[in-house]
Amino acid sequence: MANFTRRKFIQAAGGVAAVSTLGIPAIVGAASKKVVVVGGGVSGGTAAKYIRLMDPSIDVTLVEPNKEYYTCFLSNEVLGGTRKMETIRVTYDGLKKHGVNVVHDTVVDIDAAGKKVMTSGGQTLDYDRCIVAPGISFKDNIEGYKGDAMTAMPHAWKAGEQTVMLRKQLEDMKDGGVVVMAAPPNPFRCPPGPYERACQISMYLQKHKPKSKMLILDAKDKFSKFGLFQQAFKRHHPNHIEWVAAKAGGKVTRVDAGSNTVYVGDTAHKADVANIIPAQQAGAIAIKAGLTDDSGWCPIDGRTFESTMHKGIHVVGDASIAKPLPKSAYAANSEAKTAAAAVVALLKGEQPGDPSLVNTCYSIVGPDDAISVAMVYDLKDGKLSKVKGSGGLTPKDNSPEMRAREVQYAYSWFENIKNDSWG
Ligand SMILES: Cc1cc2nc3c(=O)[nH]c(=O)nc-3n(C[C@H](O)[C@H](O)[C@H](O)COP(=O)(O)OP(=O)(O)OC[C@H]3O[C@@H](n4cnc5c(N)ncnc54)[C@H](O)[C@@H]3O)c2cc1C
Repeated sequence: MANFTRRKFIQAAGGVAAVSTLGIPAIVGAASKKVVVVGGGVSGGTAAKYIRLMDPSIDVTLVEPNKEYYTCFLSNEVLGGTRKMETIRVTYDGLKKHGVNVVHDTVVDIDAAGKKVMTSGGQTLDYDRCIVAPGISFKDNIEGYKGDAMTAMPHAWKAGEQTVMLRKQLEDMKDGGVVVMAAPPNPFRCPPGPYERACQISMYLQKHKPKSKMLILDAKDKFSKFGLFQQAFKRHHPNHIEWVAAKAGGKVTRVDAGSNTVYVGDTAHKADVANIIPAQQAGAIAIKAGLTDDSGWCPIDGRTFESTMHKGIHVVGDASIAKPLPKSAYAANSEAKTAAAAVVALLKGEQPGDPSLVNTCYSIVGPDDAISVAMVYDLKDGKLSKVKGSGGLTPKDNSPEMRAREVQYAYSWFENIKNDSWG
């Protein structure tokens, strides 16, 4: 794709382009149908809001334990010290204004046959259709990484207190310290996220603890925007980031939180700060409700995001198997709109339309330097597919002005998606 066309795409994407199904007029007066949304993250918030926008006659209840949500996106800047936690916090006031009934509770089970959702607070919520959006949970792939070890060696892969803990450890670290990151195997939330994080932490180290370095031990041999990240590591972080591929001894097998040591087989890496990001699977409630297959993720019909395991339940966001879409906030937002439109149509007895989905992932890799990957998706032969010729990567020879502009696009996207999902 020519640079000019791609630029225009990125500008449009920064505005959080909506799926083609938006703008369906509301039908008021029909018998009230009930939708329960499980999880108030990006995808759950978006689905709840857009169902209400598309058809205000539908009674939408969103169940989410937390009163405040912290976005993972741009949480890497909090770790780098250039952004405050308040700026990544969102509340549920916006959704309430759209008439979403927000219940702060935890879903403990879903009765797919009886169409009921049960909460830890003892509530039973009936539904005509349910949307499950619980994000991720962690697999037990690294020996010793459980319980207190998860506090001593924070993953910070769900933003909030883990982000604060990791930031504090970085602040307390001596100059000359080593930050060891264990990067997870595929598939996982935010494929470029670990490497953007490394860049952000390195920027902090270069400014405040220049004798320190960052070691990335990877469970993979390649990762998202690989060439662009290698270029960024050389350009901005040559003495501060070392990346070790799985085949070169990067696959972490065990940790000892007591001595802050990370092991690859018998090889020990002593860390001053350890950021362990384990392998991932769908959020625990999706597993409990029987929505996952052997992969640990939830298979869905790409047209409606309805589960292929349980009819009447739609799974959106990171928990779903929506390949080739990545597990990103932008994809989660797009999937949620697709599911919302399908739910509204199905509740009216209509056929859901053809979806069109979009994703852009920005990574801020140096001062005034961001890179991105963008793509449009649709349904081909019943399968979610990339639209040929759409999107693409930041060109490797992008000018400094364009790289600086991508940082501004990233910030603009951040404001837009927060507003679109919860506002
Ligand atoms: C460091 C980092 C950087 C990132 N940067 C970007 C980026 O720049 N761009 C981008 O597009 N994406 C980015 N992402 C990815 C993005 O954050 C996720 O893809 C996105 O949050 C997925 O949305 P979701 O709705 O599936 O899950 P979440 O946003 O995690 O929401 C899940 C919600 O479900 C709730 N929940 C879980 N279980 C239950 C239950 N039993 N009952 C009720 N509620 C429940 C949780 O409390 C949570 O609020 C990043 C991720 C990380 C970790």
